[in-house]
Amino acid sequence: MRDSYGREIDYMRISVTDRCNLRCRYCMPDGIDWIPMKEILTFEEIVRLCRVAVALGITKYKITGGEPLVRRGCSALVRLIREIPGVEQVTMTSNGILLERYLGELLDAGLTDINVSLDTMEREKYREITGFDELPQVLRSIEAASTAGLRVKINVVLQEGLNAEAWDGLLSFAREGLADVRFIELMPIGHGADGQMLSNEILFRKIEQRHGTLTADRVSHGNGPAVYYRIADWPRSVGFISAIHGKFCGHCNRLRLSSTGRLKPCLCYEDSLDMRGALRDGSDAEVCEVLKKAILKKPRMHCFEDTGAVTERQEMAKIGG
Ligand code: SAM
Ligand code: SF4
Repeated sequence: MRDSYGREIDYMRISVTDRCNLRCRYCMPDGIDWIPMKEILTFEEIVRLCRVAVALGITKYKITGGEPLVRRGCSALVRLIREIPGVEQVTMTSNGILLERYLGELLDAGLTDINVSLDTMEREKYREITGFDELPQVLRSIEAASTAGLRVKINVVLQEGLNAEAWDGLLSFAREGLADVRFIELMPIGHGADGQMLSNEILFRKIEQRHGTLTADRVSHGNGPAVYYRIADWPRSVGFISAIHGKFCGHCNRLRLSSTGRLKPCLCYEDSLDMRGALRDGSDAEVCEVLKKAILKKPRMHCFEDTGAVTERQEMAKIGG
């Protein structure tokens, strides 16, 4: 279905939990009061929603969190969504800690792509950013997933005064062929508003100075707003998600579902619709009406460049990124 600005909406990010096994400084440094399980959508409710959404043309799904792999049975949910007729793709974004453990199940369930969030290759720095000494496990997971045939992308958020120099170490995944590496500009959402974003424009120049010309890579890499480049003979690509310095809203294709069933038309604004009520008390037609309303409420563009205009106040862990 198209929104009021003619954009085809065919992708939904589904947060399956607010819980996480890390405490990233820009996301949920102190933890949060966990939402009681009865308020969190069940797998049956999520699958029913996807069935209705497919009929509207939403055929691609990203499972997120919190950390999706801390929710028991997450691989089973991947399978259930994958098996809905008309679903084209189910992907996931994870911090990678539990990925090695669940890799076999996830592949079996039909997962084809995974984004692993990683902001440094230095063990001490990793502990400083996330609160836990898990870098070796994350690296093992990435290697195992890539070797087993999952398409892996590394998502990196750089901040001035914290990990601004980490980009070169992280580029080794692209140089060695294990994964694409994507740099996401820090967004002023939740604790992200306390950090200092490193601009992708500056980073782009630094990468070219170190590694030579970045050549536009026109091959499609996924469903998102990243713009991809290649470096000489490196086997994998380098992507930039420039939320602040590159308005990608003209190509926006997505809705976001929180773990409690709030359906968000845009990441930047607090507006959301109650999908849980429709799923618990309504017919499929009512579920479909909420989906349509959310699509038609999508604003023309976000306002991240004007922090004062951002109305979303929740932590990113509650939204799913
Ligand atoms: N736990 C999973 C993970 O870390 O990939 C999924 C949820 S996490 C909220 C999704 C993504 O949001 C991660 O790549 C994380 O780095 C990113 N993120 C969190 N807060 C952010 C912010 N303020 N600005 C930009 N990206 C952010
Ligand atoms: Fe957890 Fe992901 Fe947020 Fe880090 S970014 S605290 S891993 S939800």
